[in-house]
Amino acid sequence: MRIAVAKGDGIGPEIMDAVLKIFVANNVPLEYEMVEMGKWVFDKGYSNGMTPEAQQTIEQLGILFKGPMETPKGKGVKSVNVTARKTWNTYANKRVFQTLHGVDTVFSKAGIPIDITVVRENIEDTYGGIEHMLTHDVALSRRFITRPGSMQVIRYAFEMARKKEARRITCGHKANIMKLTDGLFLECFYEVAKDYPELKSDDVIVDDLCMKLVTRPDTFDVVVLTNLQGDIVSDLCAGLVGGLGFAPSANIGDHICIFEAVHGTAPDIMGRNIANPTALLLSGLSMLRHLGLMENAATIENALLYTLESGVHTGDFGDKSIKSLNTTDFAEAIIGNFGRLPKHGAKPSWPNKPATVTDFKLLVNPMLISKETEEEQIVGADFFIESGEQPEAIAKKCQRHAGVKFRLVNIANRGTQVWPTGSVYTNLVNQYNARFESLDGEPLNQQDIIGLYVSLSGNFKICSLELLNMWGGKKAYSLAQGQ
Ligand code: NAD
Repeated sequence: MRIAVAKGDGIGPEIMDAVLKIFVANNVPLEYEMVEMGKWVFDKGYSNGMTPEAQQTIEQLGILFKGPMETPKGKGVKSVNVTARKTWNTYANKRVFQTLHGVDTVFSKAGIPIDITVVRENIEDTYGGIEHMLTHDVALSRRFITRPGSMQVIRYAFEMARKKEARRITCGHKANIMKLTDGLFLECFYEVAKDYPELKSDDVIVDDLCMKLVTRPDTFDVVVLTNLQGDIVSDLCAGLVGGLGFAPSANIGDHICIFEAVHGTAPDIMGRNIANPTALLLSGLSMLRHLGLMENAATIENALLYTLESGVHTGDFGDKSIKSLNTTDFAEAIIGNFGRLPKHGAKPSWPNKPATVTDFKLLVNPMLISKETEEEQIVGADFFIESGEQPEAIAKKCQRHAGVKFRLVNIANRGTQVWPTGSVYTNLVNQYNARFESLDGEPLNQQDIIGLYVSLSGNFKICSLELLNMWGGKKAYSLAQGQ
């Protein structure tokens, strides 16, 4: 089997060399095709951080094993790590956090075992990076949460939980505040849960989840979250088991999967051969299991666990009274322990069953659409307008434009209603949302909205516009605070 490998930037080449050395020493039946991705590829003028040849190879082979990559600062380029995950639709980011004997933490010292798998949605949310300055003072980020995107990642999480016979699967969210976006994610979670009655499924609001993960991490098993919340919660979980040096990650898609450590390029220690390769090794082991190379994965993981248990460590963790090893010697120590079993948590070994490489070729972009059953009606529009005036003055002007089709319902500033009722204690910024709805409740069409747009633009700079829709008689938009 051939896989694509990108060594990455900073400590990337050092830790990738160490991991590949371990794989080669264990006769892992893989061939490695090196591809060009990372900071130096941006520097060569490829704006997405990878060469066209690299993209072609990865799309052909379907598996990318990568080291961390740096995003050049202040050049207006986007992270190649995020580009890769999104371009190839690796919709689920799986991160496993387990107690490792030999890696002391407050929990290991207290005898509290941790085995948490975080599944983070990997494509959507604020990571769309769709941001605009509406006025000089006001920046807006658009947060996409989609039904098919949520269903894909949640279905993956439940399948994985079923396979590992999980004790519990928990959805982390903030649906009490973001009622439509996180509300949709939560709705999808319980819809999928119906197909897995044997699994205990529940949900916890994300701030409460953080508190509970820190106080009782042993009560959690699989946790599924949207992208940004998943990013934060998974770093929190990395802290529970000893830090980023022990946090692996698998980016799972239907056609292409990417395996990498959670940590970055560690520029502060690069070139010194002192980085800890464990997180990348654990990511590589998850890749071997994904490819059906169970026996290799078990031998290497048992050797790693044995090595950690015996107190061998790199400089970033472990007993300071025992001299630390550099990256290369740490890898050699693991190789020297092939065949040994750790006292705690030894992994069972099954024979290799290499995955059959499917020769796929997509001809068109897959379209994800869920079945639309409800009738849709436009009932109004939110106009985001720039103004430094007081709400009453803005309302008077807006009402003049409402005409015979619309009525001005309310005006909000930063999501808080300031007209028709409000408080003078609400601070204002120079960007309001004027909400117009159909005067008599009759459905509107796009031309009606454009007519109002043209009329309003006589008085205001309109920064943005959103339609107000009703679906199946239900409002498909949020209310302002205080509305
Ligand atoms: P970082 O993870 O590189 O480093 C944070 C701290 O952890 C540093 O003190 C570092 O020395 C230490 N550390 C990280 N990995 C280690 C290891 N394997 N062994 C020992 N110590 C380790 O985070 P950062 O400094 O915020 O980011 C540096 C660069 O990495 C940035 O350009 C960022 O964009 C990039 N980054 C890339 C990825 C990725 O490729 N997936 C992820 C995160 C950050």
